[in-house]
Amino acid sequence: MTVLAGVIGDPIAQSRSPRLHGHWLHRYGIDGHYVPLHVTPENLQATLRLLPDLGFRGLNCTIPHKEAVFHLADDVTDRARAVQAANTLTFADDGRILADNTDGFGFIANLDQQVPDRDTDAAALVLGAGGAARGIVAALLDAGTPQVTIANRTTTRAAALADLFDGRVTTIDWDEAPAALSDHRLLINTTSLGMTGQPPLHFDLAGLQPDTTVTDIVYAPLTTPLLHDAQLRGAKVADGLGMLLHQAVPGFERWFGHTPTVDDALRRAVLA
Ligand code: NAP
Repeated sequence: MTVLAGVIGDPIAQSRSPRLHGHWLHRYGIDGHYVPLHVTPENLQATLRLLPDLGFRGLNCTIPHKEAVFHLADDVTDRARAVQAANTLTFADDGRILADNTDGFGFIANLDQQVPDRDTDAAALVLGAGGAARGIVAALLDAGTPQVTIANRTTTRAAALADLFDGRVTTIDWDEAPAALSDHRLLINTTSLGMTGQPPLHFDLAGLQPDTTVTDIVYAPLTTPLLHDAQLRGAKVADGLGMLLHQAVPGFERWFGHTPTVDDALRRAVLA
């Protein structure tokens, strides 16, 4: 039987997920379709109840549905609960909806693939405290990161994020972040700064140690000015596209029954 899955969002045209899953479906010869669905917040609940009856095994969820689907789901994974948001839904045979959040998994899997020799015991400096930062901080702690420092423009938002976690997470002012860099061996930009159409990220990397890993979850452009500067200074870098690719693995596995590979062919297909 043809297996169906898709991605819901409002808007949805920008999503690269159909290309990503379509590449895997073709590569593994799976009888399935992955479709983009424009779903508004008003239609969200009805859509979630209807799609399992139409043969859908699950969905990815993008802006603005990530928090709402978490609350509408029947069951949630621990990592979705930690973030209070979901990006991957799976429909059980009886129609129950399982909500998962694979962003943090994707973030760590990307770092492991792009910088396999990085120091996993290193303290991390996280720029930003939005939805993406939440999943990343949770995943860093899960992966054993001994200390996470958050710097965000809006300090109250950074403090609220740190409060969700244990004493390993602290905050500093946005302006203090460059000076704090030398005490960390992992720098992560989770803000939207540096993305095409957004203001640039001005971050002084003078304090960067050569054994530091720098990653940016912005992937348009692929090599952000932050990554470019870090590369010139001899740091190890990981771009943000891999996070997008790896976060898709658990959903594909559950819906289509095959563990897909993240490789250069996939990167080319998604960037084409
Ligand atoms: P969000 O919840 O809206 O958070 C945006 C973050 O950027 C906040 O920390 C915000 O700070 C900061 N920011 C925005 N404009 C700023 C400015 N002018 N100066 C300083 N800080 C500023 O967004 P999100 O969902 O976390 O996503 C953030 C970025 O990550 C987006 O570009 C998104 O496309 C990308 N992303 C990539 C992946 C991937 O798979 N690679 C996954 C998820 C997201 P304030 O709190 O002060 O507003």
